[in-house]
Amino acid sequence: MDLEAYVERTRSGPCFVCAFLAGNPHYPHETVFEDADHVAFLDRWPTVPGKVLVAPKAHVEHVVRDLEEAAYSRLMLFVREIALAVEAACEPGRSSSSSPSCPSPSAWCRRPWSPAGRAAVAPF
Ligand SMILES: [Zn+2]
Repeated sequence: MDLEAYVERTRSGPCFVCAFLAGNPHYPHETVFEDADHVAFLDRWPTVPGKVLVAPKAHVEHVVRDLEEAAYSRLMLFVREIALAVEAACEPGRSSSSSPSCPSPSAWCRRPWSPAGRAAVAPF
């Protein structure tokens, strides 16, 4: 991986989730599950086994502020469903779901929720 090119692309390129969903060949991902409003796909460069990214299909700049309560609740239920499926497939000591806070207004689409298997000794 060319880390410098990757960083430049994340800062100046399109939202990678929207590009992926639009079929842009420069943003390929492997979908593991989807429904009408959400998509779960494999992280291209996973930092832990079983790392799956989850995002709403609609572009959202900030998941907490921009999704109405019902849509946010549906997203969290989708994250839970994916996390349980990852646990069943990977049999980790435990799993976690996170969306790192980011000052970027496009944090949501660039940093979707990521259910992943974690070693039992992971600090979170
Ligand atoms: Zn987007």
